Amino acid sequence: MNFYVMTLFPEMVEQGMKTSILGRAIEKGLLSLEAVNIRDYTENKHKKVDDYPYGGGAGMLMQAQPVFDCYRAVTEKIESRRKDRKESGTGRIPAGMRVIYLTPQGEKFSQQTARQLAEEENLIFLCGHYEGIDERVLEEIVTDYISVGDYVLTGGELPAMVMMDAIARLVPGVLHNEISADFETFHNDLLEYPQYSRPEIWHGKRVPEELLSGDHKKIAAWRLEQSEQRTEQRRPDLYAKYSRKQHYIQYMMKKGKMHYMDIVESLRRGKGEIVEASEDGILVRDESAGVYMIAVFDASKAAEVAGWIPRQGQGWQFAVHQECLLEPFGRLFSIRECLPVYQAVYTRKNAAAVPKNIKLEPLGTGYLEEVMSHYRMTDDRMYLEERLQSGNIYGAFMDGTLAGFAGIHQEGSIGMLEVYEEYRRQGVGGALEAFLINLQLSMGYTPYGMIEEDNEVSLNLQEKLGLCISRDCLYWIVT
Ligand code: SAM
Repeated sequence: MNFYVMTLFPEMVEQGMKTSILGRAIEKGLLSLEAVNIRDYTENKHKKVDDYPYGGGAGMLMQAQPVFDCYRAVTEKIESRRKDRKESGTGRIPAGMRVIYLTPQGEKFSQQTARQLAEEENLIFLCGHYEGIDERVLEEIVTDYISVGDYVLTGGELPAMVMMDAIARLVPGVLHNEISADFETFHNDLLEYPQYSRPEIWHGKRVPEELLSGDHKKIAAWRLEQSEQRTEQRRPDLYAKYSRKQHYIQYMMKKGKMHYMDIVESLRRGKGEIVEASEDGILVRDESAGVYMIAVFDASKAAEVAGWIPRQGQGWQFAVHQECLLEPFGRLFSIRECLPVYQAVYTRKNAAAVPKNIKLEPLGTGYLEEVMSHYRMTDDRMYLEERLQSGNIYGAFMDGTLAGFAGIHQEGSIGMLEVYEEYRRQGVGGALEAFLINLQLSMGYTPYGMIEEDNEVSLNLQEKLGLCISRDCLYWIVT
């Protein structure tokens, strides 16, 4: 993850960011930070970057020219780094490049936004000062307007640092224990439970018995209960959101545990957000994966439920859970691909057995060409590179040679399974899947995957590994 900060006070950003956990992550190369001085790009011979606002009013305004030229220099740098890696971007704002203007007029920053932004490779922050920045340059370069709260600060530097801190700690490897970022406040719309450290008794107050029991189930149940109580008391708004989500999770589990597991897991893992839901159907959006999941519980309402999908859905992927949704869906969007798939769910709680003779480890981006040449389902280079970079594709090695790979898709399903021809029927596929199942179980997730309707080999493998297959298909659609 690379941060670029366009600012009038680069030293403030650098000093603030280069200590403690983030400083170490920068040293380790997990993050990079470049604070770029907008003043270096002014054409004014006195190095001025601001002027009076037209129409009068208090204060000065940052001018368009230095901001735009600074932006151009930053994006050119990013582009040339990409080209070095044989990639190319297109358009005015290079592909996938987010330019965030920190402003009290923006959308309020949240853990959800941090999670989405942590998936990006490069982020550019634009810090305003004085009365702000000439609107015309904002219109040309900004993709996101973000505020850190309903108050006005003197500059965008502190908000940019707040955002970078929250985003950076979600980048794999930055925190020692990656899971710790997954189970804290705001995960799944709950506040974190109370925590205690030594001594057992302090000021006459005892650490709760449950935490001393050593019984992991008991501890997890106590923590969940405490989280729920605390959220209800301190953040009723969040609790209402959490309760609604729980209601629909229960509802879908009753309607068809296997069929709806992708939506249920997306909500449980705090990835998906309910866009709309009623007894008729549900629409969930996982913004970081670019996926909508849609289901109708009453077939006569299919057209109405399909109408919940926002118009800008074109270009997204969809998991459409009923055939009757396809016709109204097709009237709204042009479908590039439509793949009927069964859902396979690992309903057991105990770990799957992984054969000892097969070594499993994450593949780095050095394996991109290899993965590209073997994976049949997509040739989306950026997607596979991101999956490799985030440590979500694992290789199976036999006698030190790569025999196949599999991984976790952005929306959370197990997939991308490929076993090389010469290693088939030697337990490689089973080993990869069992390994990923165990990994997901260790994070408290229910492992699931999607299997093409006519892929007999894979369907048999799932059953052999103890996964249950949904009775009906759902449709994976690329628009
Ligand atoms: N005149 C502007 C307005 O009313 O919207 C406020 C300008 S403020 C004094 C100067 C700069 O501080 C802004 O351009 C912005 O970059 C930053 N800033 C101030 N408050 C902020 C907040 N709550 N969130 C994010 N950025 C903020």
